[in-house]
Parts: sequence; structure tokens; C-alpha cells
Amino acid sequence: MSTGSSSVAAYLVAALLFVLALAGLSRHESARRGNGFGIAGMAVALVATVLLAADGGIDALGAVLVVVAVVLGGAIGLRLAARVQMTGMPELIALLHSFVGLAAVLVGWNGYLHVEAHPGGAAAAGLDAAGLLGVHSAEVAIGVFVGGVTVTGSVVANLKLSARIASAPLVLPGKNLLNLGALVVFAVLTVWFVVSPQLWLLAAATVLALALGWHLVASIGGGDMPVVVSMLNSYSGWAAAASGFLLDNDLLIIVGALVGSSGAYLSYVMCAAMNRSFLSVIAGGFGIEAARSGEDPQGEHTEITAEGVADLLSRARSVVIAPGYGMAVAQAQHPVAQLDARLRERGVQVRYGIHPVAGRLPGHMNVLLAEAKVPYDIVLEMDEVNDDFATTDVVLVIGANDTVNPAAAEDPTSPIAGMPVLTVWHAADVVVFKRSMATGYAGVQNPLFFRDNTHMLFGDARTRVEDILEALRAPV
Ligand code: NDP
Repeated sequence: MSTGSSSVAAYLVAALLFVLALAGLSRHESARRGNGFGIAGMAVALVATVLLAADGGIDALGAVLVVVAVVLGGAIGLRLAARVQMTGMPELIALLHSFVGLAAVLVGWNGYLHVEAHPGGAAAAGLDAAGLLGVHSAEVAIGVFVGGVTVTGSVVANLKLSARIASAPLVLPGKNLLNLGALVVFAVLTVWFVVSPQLWLLAAATVLALALGWHLVASIGGGDMPVVVSMLNSYSGWAAAASGFLLDNDLLIIVGALVGSSGAYLSYVMCAAMNRSFLSVIAGGFGIEAARSGEDPQGEHTEITAEGVADLLSRARSVVIAPGYGMAVAQAQHPVAQLDARLRERGVQVRYGIHPVAGRLPGHMNVLLAEAKVPYDIVLEMDEVNDDFATTDVVLVIGANDTVNPAAAEDPTSPIAGMPVLTVWHAADVVVFKRSMATGYAGVQNPLFFRDNTHMLFGDARTRVEDILEALRAPV
């Protein structure tokens, strides 16, 4: 068998491994196996691609560049993966999406420079038959555009998630018209480029795509960022598929389509869970207008001590723990698990209520609780626990804020209005663990903190939970 046909067979195997990876990743129990399939698929794909390039007569300089790129990229990737904290994962993923977008832009420009801009390039690429060059030019323009939107959109998402720029939505006057206008201008530029491929047209499409990507994500508020991350994942997939058409690489087309469609579906599922309009979010917050500032204090809050919480808990018969991003920051899951075990030993009914976007990535809280060996059967989804708060004695809100904000349910002018939340305020007593009165990720003030049945326990969540454990140990 020639190297070419072996590589095609290897691509087929890699594509199947990627499908198995996605199937495995859809459930906790099979996620590790799914990851294994993904790694194996990528290894097969890399080797086959290098062999294919060798078969295509790559010169010595090209071979050296490929090896340097693989070694350098692999080393940076390993270092980043080893150093990243769980809480920093979404911003790293956003950054990685920007690399896929950048690669698509470079592949598009490379296609243009080798074919349209090169005398005899079309004939050398076998594109001199009627219409074929036009198809190539359209692929170049679309690939560069999708890639460009992905690059800057992902960079803005990274900056927002890492709090290096404000998470509040940017609301420029006529922002929806700006987005729509950019799409119309892109369509005109593409048609023009297909009819008459010129450097300035491709440059204009690139700049337009970069500006649109920046504006689309800057216009989306902090509360909707989980959807943005999965949406950019989808865009990066389509950008890779576009590159696959340009490079005539079937595996890239298949993998791009897998990533693009699974990312789009995940975005849709998340929008449904957060009661957001899918179209509104992907259109850069279409229909979301400037929200009033949510920073104003809304009354007096009541503080409590760790001993006070221990006292509340020693009288409670049912307790729900609502963890959030602050539990991840404080790494409080182990003492929280000890506290829940202690309470269950005393006959208290303890359950966890998990909001679908608690923390900074889907499933974040479930992973932390599993790490602390909390039994699966007491970890409940938001919908499973929301009806029970009215009969709950004490709710411990551990580093959660937006996901327990009553304004989402009660204030139609709130930037997070309509997002389903854990209705913790229906319990007899609510204890909120946090370090200050600062707002959560969405930058919205939380009226829960000022309710009569809410007690604020300030300080690092891990230290405070350990203090409560200590107080529960003390003889009464
Ligand atoms: P929030 O970001 O709303 O609130 C976290 C709270 O934790 C803050 O109020 C903070 O208050 C507190 N906190 C931080 N560090 C500590 C610490 N060491 N000890 C005690 N408290 C601490 O978190 P939620 O989980 O409630 O909500 C998630 C938010 O993130 C949502 O807005 C969601 O849309 C967004 N998001 C979610 C993603 C996902 O996929 N899950 C991805 C991207 C964004 P203080 O500073 O006063 O301590």
C-alpha cells in the first residue's frame, strides 16, 4: 500500500477514535476512556499527516520546521496543562480556541498567496478548470472570516474570564446594526473577492472579522460567558473545517465538523438551562440592552460567627449546601465533605444543590465534590432540589453568588433576569460564606445578602468551614 492510501486509512481510524472520544466524554463514568480515545486519535492523525507531507515531497527545511513546531507546541502545551488550576481552565480553553482561529486565518492567507496571488498558482494547484478558482477564493474568504472572528472573540473571552477586563457587556449605540452591517459587508467583500481576488479585499475581510469577533464577545455580559466559551469552541471547529477544505484534508473537515456541531449543541443546551435565547447570545447579546448598574448596596446585612453557624447546624434536621466558584478558589471541598459527613453522622439530612453554571466550567462543582469523595446520591441538580428549600432548616451557600441571586427570579430589570437560580432564600436560615460584600462574576448586586433570614460569614471559605468543624467538636 502507498503512503498516501495508508494515510487515508489512518485518517479514517483517527476520525472514528474522535467520534468514540466524544461519545465517551458525554458521561462521567466513561469520560476518562473518552479522553484516551481522543489522545490516541490525535497521535494517529499527527503521524499520518507527517507521513503524508513526506510523501508529498516536503523539503528538508519544511521537515525541520514541522519537527520544531511539533516539539515546541507539545512542550508549551504540556507546561500549560501542568500549571493550570481547575479555576483557570475556561480561560485557557478560550485562549486555545484563539490559536485554532489564528491557524485558519494563516491557512487562508497561505491559500491566497499560493494560488490567486501567484502567477500560474491556479494551474499548479489543479484549479484552472472553470469555476474551481472561484470555489477556492470563497473558501479562502470564509476560512479567514470565521478564523478571524474566533481569534479576537476568544482573546476577549480569555480577558473577561481572567478578570483582566470588566465582565459587563459593552453596549455601543446601534450594536445590533453594527453586527448585521459587518455581516453584509463581509458578504459583499466575499462576492467581490470571488469575482476578482485582490489583496486589499482579503485584508479588509480579515480586519472586519477581527473587529466583529472583538465586538460580538465584548457585547456579551459575564453571566452568559459559559455559553460564549462553548460557542467559541463551535466557531473554532468551523474554522478548522474551513481550513480542511482549503488544504484538501478530509480529517480536518471531519474533526472541524464534529467540534463545530458538538460546540453548537452544547451552547444550545446551556442556553436552555439558563433560560437564554440561543440566537440572542450568538448574535452578540442581540436584544440585550444596557442594564442598570447593580453595584448599589441594598440595605443592612447581618454577620454571623463560625460558632453561630455551628449552633444553627446543631439544631438543624435538614441542610442543603450550595457550592460555587468561591469553594473552588478556597479549595474548601475537603473540609466541606468532612462537615457534611459529621452532620450525617448526627442524623441530619444533608444534600448538595448544584447549579448548572456554578463555578467556571460545566460540571466544575461535581468534579470537586467527587474529588472530596462526597457520595453521588446526595449531589442533586438544581431542579431536583429547588422545591425542597421551603422545608430546609439551613442552607450553606459556600462561595456562590450569581447562582443564588433572587434578582434573577424577581427583578425583570436585572442583567441576569430570567436565569434559573437555586431558590435558597425559601429556607429557614441561609448562611453565605464569602470574603466581602463584592459582587459575583456577572457583576450584579445580590439582594439575598440583605434578607432577614440571611447571615453573612466573612472570610476564606476553607478556613471558615474548618472553624465550624472545630466549633462542632467543642463540648457544649
Ligand atoms: P460567582 O462568581 O457568582 O461568585 C463567587 C463568589 O465566591 C463571590 O461572591 C466571591 O465573593 C466568593 N469567593 C471567592 N473566593 C472566595 C474564597 N476564597 N472564600 C470564600 N468566598 C470566595 O460564582 P457562582 O458559582 O455562584 O456563579 C458562577 C458565575 O460564573 C455565573 O455568573 C456564571 O455565568 C459564570 N461562569 C460560569 C461558567 C461555567 O461554565 N460554569 C463559565 C464562565 C462563567 P468574595 O470576593 O467577596 O469572596
